[in-house]
Amino acid sequence: MIQFDQVEKQYPDGTYAVRELDLTIQKGEFFVLIGPSGCGKTTTLKMINRLIPISDGTLRINGRKISEFDIHELRWNIGYVLQQIALFPHMTIAENIAVVPEMRKWDREKISRRVDELLEMVGLDPAVYRNRKPAELSGGQQQRIGVVRALAADPEVVLMDEPFSALDPISREKLQDDLLDLQRNIQKTIVFVTHDMKEAIKLGDRLCLMKEGRVVQIGTPSHIMSQPANNFVKSFIGTDHLEESRTVRDVVTAFPAQPAEGRRIESGETVLKALQLLAEADALTVYEHGRPIGTITHRTIVQFLGREVRL
Ligand code: ADP
Repeated sequence: MIQFDQVEKQYPDGTYAVRELDLTIQKGEFFVLIGPSGCGKTTTLKMINRLIPISDGTLRINGRKISEFDIHELRWNIGYVLQQIALFPHMTIAENIAVVPEMRKWDREKISRRVDELLEMVGLDPAVYRNRKPAELSGGQQQRIGVVRALAADPEVVLMDEPFSALDPISREKLQDDLLDLQRNIQKTIVFVTHDMKEAIKLGDRLCLMKEGRVVQIGTPSHIMSQPANNFVKSFIGTDHLEESRTVRDVVTAFPAQPAEGRRIESGETVLKALQLLAEADALTVYEHGRPIGTITHRTIVQFLGREVRL
């Protein structure tokens, strides 16, 4: 568990990057920091592994202040993935993945097994990729290596700073899918920075929307979309146009599902109305001309909105 208690960051030139930050990230949670450029996301992330020292307040991991950790112990227990991952160009893929396990002095056999296991986890055949150099991989494959390298020594927490934003849209979606699958298996605490709402909605268990160094709203994607705290949130996530223009019929058309038991909603109602009803019901049965035509749940709406969000 990562806990920010009134954390502040002021840079030497006087800029406050983060102010009065109170935040609790649960163990095993996929937590997304999102907001416009300059709102303090990266600063927040880098304070967790002490790449940026905090100016005030307390930051704890599993109840212990981060200042009390030995810096190596802290960094080894926190994986870190950057936008432009810097794989060592003269080292093989296997050697790149093994950097932290080597530093931790794992034995050869264990490292070798771990490398194969990690490559397999992201769909890269060890027999083919182990001994290649980074330049012999595509951008998407290199980024996959960046992700598994961060997991190599089995850290409890993984920090990811816009890890997919330099990729083309297809590789990006593929890596997002892979990361979701991976997370289902490994259940790490992931703190993920993005400015892309679609990505945030797809990946996050909870999102923290920031503006000018402060938290504006924290919640699940569906909570934030159905109950945006203010106009900034609305316009940032692009739901200001969705709530008027998208209907339940649009959702059922995009994600067809057999009608099932659920509270009734008419197909011409707005998506916003459906989200409000879903606060109290697991599923809604959609009716058109008096007949049930489908079922919608939170999940289908979130998927639908994730696709539709204006970027
Ligand atoms: P984000 O990741 O949301 O784009 P950052 O955390 O990088 O935002 O930056 C937050 C604010 O802190 C911005 O106003 C930025 O200009 C400022 N900032 C970041 N790094 C420094 C620095 N080293 N010195 C002074 N100001 C900085």
